[in-house]
Amino acid sequence: MSTADNRKTVLDPWGTTVVEDYNRLYEEFGIQRFKSLLAEIPNPSMYMRRGVIFGHRNFESVLENMKRHEKFAVMSGIKPTGEFHLGTLMTAREIIYFQQQGATAFYCIADIEAYEDNKIPFEKSEKIAVGNVADLLALGFDPKRGYIYRQYKEQRVRNLAVLFGRSVTLATMKAIYGERNIGLYLSALVQAGDILMPQLEDFDGPKPTVVPVGIDQDAHLRLTRDLASKFRRKFNFVSPSSTYHKIMKGLDGSPKMAKRNSMSYFTLHENPESIAKKISNAFTGGRPTVEEQRRLGGVPEICPIYEIEMYHFVENDDDVVKVYNDCRSGKLLCGEHKARTTEIVLNFVKDHKRKRRKFVDKSREILQVA
Ligand code: SF4
Repeated sequence: MSTADNRKTVLDPWGTTVVEDYNRLYEEFGIQRFKSLLAEIPNPSMYMRRGVIFGHRNFESVLENMKRHEKFAVMSGIKPTGEFHLGTLMTAREIIYFQQQGATAFYCIADIEAYEDNKIPFEKSEKIAVGNVADLLALGFDPKRGYIYRQYKEQRVRNLAVLFGRSVTLATMKAIYGERNIGLYLSALVQAGDILMPQLEDFDGPKPTVVPVGIDQDAHLRLTRDLASKFRRKFNFVSPSSTYHKIMKGLDGSPKMAKRNSMSYFTLHENPESIAKKISNAFTGGRPTVEEQRRLGGVPEICPIYEIEMYHFVENDDDVVKVYNDCRSGKLLCGEHKARTTEIVLNFVKDHKRKRRKFVDKSREILQVA
C-alpha cells in the first residue's frame, strides 16, 4: 500500500496493495514505463493504448520477436477461488491478445496458491476451475495454440519448484515477500515454475515469455527473473518479461475491488438485478447537485463508472474520449451515465453467458474433470 511520502509502496501478491501514485513505482521498483514502447508495438491492445498497462520488465525481448514473427510465449493464469470478475477478465483478455499476436499461450489454474493462500481444497478448486476455463474459452482463447493446466497436476511445474527450492534461502524469501508461512513461499516457487515452464524443451525450448499481471504480482517476477539467471546454464532460460496493469477501483469508491467487500465488484455470473443495483449505488466523480455538475463538470479520474467503461466495455478510443470530455464539461450526468453503463454491462454479461455454456464440456475435457 502507498502511504505517506516518506514510506515506500508495498506490492503484496497475497495482501492489500493500493497504489496512490503509479509514477513512484518506476523509481521504487525499477519498473519500466510501457508508454515509451507503445509506438513500436504493431497492434497495441486497448489496455496498452489507454495506459491501463503502464509498466513492464524486459518487454523489449518479447516485442522484438513479435515484430520479427519469431517464437514467444505468454503465460498467466487465475487463482480458482470464485467466478470471473473484471480483474480476471482483464488478465484473460491480455493473454488472448498476445495469443492472437502469435504467442504460444499458457493459462495456469493456480490451485496450489488457492490452497495455501485461501485454504480452498483441491476438490473445490477443480469445480471452480471448470467454470473459469469455460469463461476463458468463451472470451476467445484458442486451446489449439495454447496449454491450460492445473498446478497441482502439472509435474513439470512441480519439478521446477523443487529444483528452485535448492537455490533460494529463507532470507531471500523474507526480503521479497515478508514474513509468511512456508506454504506461501512454496506456492511462490511453484509460480516460478509456471513462468519458466514455457521455455522447457517439451514446449519448444527457450523463448521470450511475457507475463501480463496486475502490479501487485511483481514480487513473483522478481523472484523468477533471479531464478532464471541462476538456472541459465542448465536450461538456457531467457529472462521472463512482464507487463503490469493498474488495479481497478472498487465500485463503492474503495481503492481496489475486493472479494471481502461485495459492493466493490461484481462477477460475470451474478444475477442482472444485483449487477444493476451495484452500478446504481456506485460511487462517482460527480457533484452533489445537477446544477453543480452542469456548471463544474464531473471528475472522471476518480470515477469507477468511467473506469469500468474505459477498461472493459468501450471498444472505440474516440468514444472513451467523448465520455471523458462530456463528463468534464458537465454535459453528461451521473444518473444517465450509470443507466447507459448498466445496459452495456448487462448486454455483455448476457452474451458472454450464452457463449460460455457451449464451452463447459470442453473445459472439463481440458482439465480432465469427470
Ligand atoms: S458523469 Fe459519468 S464519468 Fe462523470 S462522474 Fe458521473 S458517472 Fe463518473
